[in-house]
Amino acid sequence: MAEVSNWQLGRDMQYPYDAPRPNKQVAWVFDTNKCIACQTCTIACKQTWTWGRGQEYMLWNNVETKPYGFFPTGWDVKLMEMLGPGSWKDGVYEGQTVFEKAPEDLHVLGWQPETEDWSHPNVGEDEPAGETDRGTYVGSIPHDVWFYYLARICNHCTYPACLAACPRNAIYKRPEDGIVLVDQSRCRGYQECVTACPYKKVMFNPVSGTSEKCIACFPKIEQGLQTQCVTSCIGRIRFAGFISPPGEVDEKNPIDFLVKVRKVALPLYPQTGTEPNVYYVPPIHAPRQFLKQMFGPGVDEAIETYTKAKDDPELLGLQMLMGATEHIIHGFEVEGEVVKGFDAAGKELVSVPLREPSFIRKYFDEVRDVYLHNIT
Ligand code: SF4
Ligand code: SF4
Repeated sequence: MAEVSNWQLGRDMQYPYDAPRPNKQVAWVFDTNKCIACQTCTIACKQTWTWGRGQEYMLWNNVETKPYGFFPTGWDVKLMEMLGPGSWKDGVYEGQTVFEKAPEDLHVLGWQPETEDWSHPNVGEDEPAGETDRGTYVGSIPHDVWFYYLARICNHCTYPACLAACPRNAIYKRPEDGIVLVDQSRCRGYQECVTACPYKKVMFNPVSGTSEKCIACFPKIEQGLQTQCVTSCIGRIRFAGFISPPGEVDEKNPIDFLVKVRKVALPLYPQTGTEPNVYYVPPIHAPRQFLKQMFGPGVDEAIETYTKAKDDPELLGLQMLMGATEHIIHGFEVEGEVVKGFDAAGKELVSVPLREPSFIRKYFDEVRDVYLHNIT
């Protein structure tokens, strides 16, 4: 075991290898408040990458309803049960990670889903938690009755559990962009990676006999384009880009701004210790205790900042830039009432108004003596 630094835990931790950080690290921001669970991202990914034999059940991108939705069944409940209680003190995680809690003869603490667990990707869809009387108006925040949508892909972790567990050294993390890939020629299908990934984002192909996973649309990333799940997103909830290393912040970089400057986007289950690189704006209406277990101790601050976005031109501007271009936005700038996005060379990619004009129609037309109901 090597001692490595994990900024999401606020401390060093044990990892099986002395893993240097990549030169660049691909990262995403997903805003859970805007996801409508249309599954367009899921289908865009499926049609692009997992339409082959043995891949029928695979969803490298999936969208599940929390708290009762999972893919595979119960993945995070099992993870939490295995890790056991773990508290945070002043931003430092005091529990054990999947590496630190590994059995003596293994590198990672994990579990292997049954075939049946992969068979119900939409189980728990739109099933709310909490109770209320029929006809009650749910107005308070957080809501008494709640659910939210959690879109998930491989996190292209800084310290991948899948990589640590592979006895064949078939999984590697690219130094040029931090993308985690399975070398299909080395993989022998032992599925140690499936067992190890805390997010259950490696899947076994029974036809090829190898493990497969989200490849971060690397042919697109290499061309400066955002991934399929991002460019297809109907709710415009997503950004793909690169996050600066710990201790460095580029305030003009959208990912850095959301994760490190305004801190509205948080990692998913940071207590795993893998340093996942998909960052989520937590839903504002769900119970805070639930959210803190899922996104760590920064939840209150994130939601407070996020709910003031209308008075924060840069935060508002980034929300308007989500889904505004298929290119990776490396820099952004607000000029008056317009936000602009730039590529790596500083060339303007897109410019969007901060506020879209809205028109409120009269509800009654006196001339025609008719109510103008909005039926769209
Ligand atoms: S999310 Fe899972 S599959 Fe993806 S890099 Fe992390 S450990 Fe590996
Ligand atoms: S396409 Fe976007 S809005 Fe639709 S389910 Fe996927 S993440 Fe949510």
